[in-house]
Amino acid sequence: MELVPLRQDWIHRAACADEDPELFFPVGTSGPAERDQEEAKRICAHCAVARECLAYALSSGQTSGVWGGKGEDELAGLRRSRPARRRA
Ligand code: SF4
Repeated sequence: MELVPLRQDWIHRAACADEDPELFFPVGTSGPAERDQEEAKRICAHCAVARECLAYALSSGQTSGVWGGKGEDELAGLRRSRPARRRA
């Protein structure tokens, strides 16, 4: 089992800190939800802690929302492509 870091100091530097959380957790995959997800990704593209955010999402098993500039399908793909020893 991979350990999830307890300290998440990076979160205080998140570009999304003052953004609407619904952008990052849209309901559905089309129409307004798709536009929200694209807007969230635009914010992530300028985030100084995107790498930390993505690493956290993958190590803690986040399955919904936009993390580190990746949507749900992309997160699932990254989890599948990770070496088995890292998922154990
Ligand atoms: S990468 Fe995106 S979701 Fe993660 S902290 Fe930055 S702005 Fe927020």
